[in-house]
Amino acid sequence: MPLSVFSLGLLFLFGLALGSFGSVVVSRVPKNKSIGGRSQCPHCKQTIAARDLIPVLSFLILEGRCRHCRKNISLCYPLLELSSAGLIILPAILEGYIDPFTVSLGTALWLFLLLAVMDSESQRIPDVVSMPLIVVAFLAAYLRGEISWLAPLMGGGFFLLQWAVSRGRILGSGDIFIGIAMGCILGTWPITLLAVGIAYVVGASIACYFLASGKYTRGMRIAFVPYLFVGTVIALVFGERVLKLLSI
Ligand SMILES: [Zn+2]
Repeated sequence: MPLSVFSLGLLFLFGLALGSFGSVVVSRVPKNKSIGGRSQCPHCKQTIAARDLIPVLSFLILEGRCRHCRKNISLCYPLLELSSAGLIILPAILEGYIDPFTVSLGTALWLFLLLAVMDSESQRIPDVVSMPLIVVAFLAAYLRGEISWLAPLMGGGFFLLQWAVSRGRILGSGDIFIGIAMGCILGTWPITLLAVGIAYVVGASIACYFLASGKYTRGMRIAFVPYLFVGTVIALVFGERVLKLLSI
């Protein structure tokens, strides 16, 4: 389907709905709670009515407060909904069309975002989300038409090596699956390598900040998935241009 304001708008609405579901996933899965059942206000425990669950709009209408107790609703909810919608339409904008490939790639980015949020909030990379990420990322790699298996092999192998050498101290095994998914999402090994490089630079800068500011405590694990996510999105958007500049 060619891009039009209408088709992109529809896809954006689909992304908002996914984002709304995503906020349920990130708030419940790390606590091993079921994702079924209606959401409740975290303050007054009142069940939230369907009319108050419209992505972004409900937040604006309610001015960011619970309808019952008027306590603040976290800004994270509309932000997650908007960023999910942005990620769903990103591949379509980059490629200039909407098809199963761009939609599956956007869905993989959305699942990646959920893992980044869960890793940063609870240092957990639940299989129940990372496995669908692998499946959707493989589907996107297959639908892309030109499969380079070297990319997921390199992405996964890179983290497998670190995991094996450090005996799981530096990275968790979940990062290996993320590496495989990155390779599938990005398609070629040079761009995957670029994404990992960006993640390390951003991650190291933040780690230096923690060390310099004295906020680092011994044994503290810095969640790495958010940096891998940022590296992947930057490499997806700018990767080919950067490699051209470097003439790789
Ligand atoms: Zn409330």
